[in-house]
Amino acid sequence: MSESPIYLDYAATTPIDPGVAQALSEALCDETAIANPSSVHRAGRLSAARVATAAEQVASLLGCEPGQLIWTSGATEADNLAIAGAARYRADRGRHLVTMPTEHKAVTDMFQALEKEGFDVTWLAPGPDGLLDIDLLEQALTEKTQLVSIMHVNNETGVVQDIEAIGELCRSRDVLYHVDAAQSAGKLPIDLRRMPIDLLSLTAHKFYGPKGIGALYVADRPGCHVEPLLFGGGQQRSLRPGTLPVPLIIALGKAAEIARERQASDLEHATRLRAALWDGIKGVEGLLLNGHPTAHYPGIVNVSVGDVDGESLLLDLEPLCVATGSACNSKNQEPSYVLRSMGRSDDEAEGAIRVSFGRMSTIEDVEQAASIYVDAVSRLRQLAPAA
Ligand SMILES: *Cc1c(COP(=O)(O)O)cnc(C)c1O
Repeated sequence: MSESPIYLDYAATTPIDPGVAQALSEALCDETAIANPSSVHRAGRLSAARVATAAEQVASLLGCEPGQLIWTSGATEADNLAIAGAARYRADRGRHLVTMPTEHKAVTDMFQALEKEGFDVTWLAPGPDGLLDIDLLEQALTEKTQLVSIMHVNNETGVVQDIEAIGELCRSRDVLYHVDAAQSAGKLPIDLRRMPIDLLSLTAHKFYGPKGIGALYVADRPGCHVEPLLFGGGQQRSLRPGTLPVPLIIALGKAAEIARERQASDLEHATRLRAALWDGIKGVEGLLLNGHPTAHYPGIVNVSVGDVDGESLLLDLEPLCVATGSACNSKNQEPSYVLRSMGRSDDEAEGAIRVSFGRMSTIEDVEQAASIYVDAVSRLRQLAPAA
């Protein structure tokens, strides 16, 4: 039996939208995009204009100004730049920072590096459903606090934090608020004109764009600024120097434009698929939903059965391409730190499977996924009945 893979790992990276792929391949050879946008000659000015158009496309997705965006290589770099850049910029005022253990490694590892630099970091544990209790945040803020970083949609569980409430609290205390929006940009409404957010990271390859390009939004407010991580030719007001990857930026702009047009229908589609997946698996005995029953992005579903090992399960799930409990660290066998900090046991975290889907996924994909999952769990339980 040769089965073609069923790709349900959109939270790791999405397929590229055909319209984006076309914009990218055209840009690679197009004479309006070949030059270095820093060059003052005519070709350079043409390239700079293409970059400006892309900035407008991303800005209109987010409800910000094009000049508030810094191009980066992706969300890892945007997260690093936001967190280290703002913490160092404001270090004279105080060295206390706040985040959660359920953040992406690009955030948690950056905070750990800052702890070694002498910053004091408060790690707020989520509730069992993954949500932050806003009272805990309020209690954690001190006169020394300069930055809070709490993501929008969690990459392992799909849990959606109340970024508006968090932002309002931060603003009332003159604390900068950074949002890792890698999983939500282009998928959930974000309006930076209305939302009290100072720094926001995104990456094209999580919303049908190419890998290797992202952006950091930096609000235009007194006290909101980042110190650069890189030094070089002065591009992007020296905040992130380096020759701009014009074709990738054009592709990010196109991905943003398409995402803006399709946001409502993409979300409806994901909601339908989630319902179909859930219908197919809800009968599994002892099934746990890792996440929040309502405060979630529908395109990520994370479930556990505590008595079945995730690695064996994954092998048994062929041809499904899904992720285990250790999601973004799939090379390491440690149970997911995200699920552990939500109070899941080692066994439950190790048995976790993350199914994530989106624009190109079909009802058949998720129905097949459900039936393969149900069969695999029952087969593994027969092989190794729980003691
Ligand atoms: C994918 C992801 C990142 C890293 O993005 P890259 O563009 O791959 O560097 C950061 N944060 C979250 C929440 C993600 O899902």
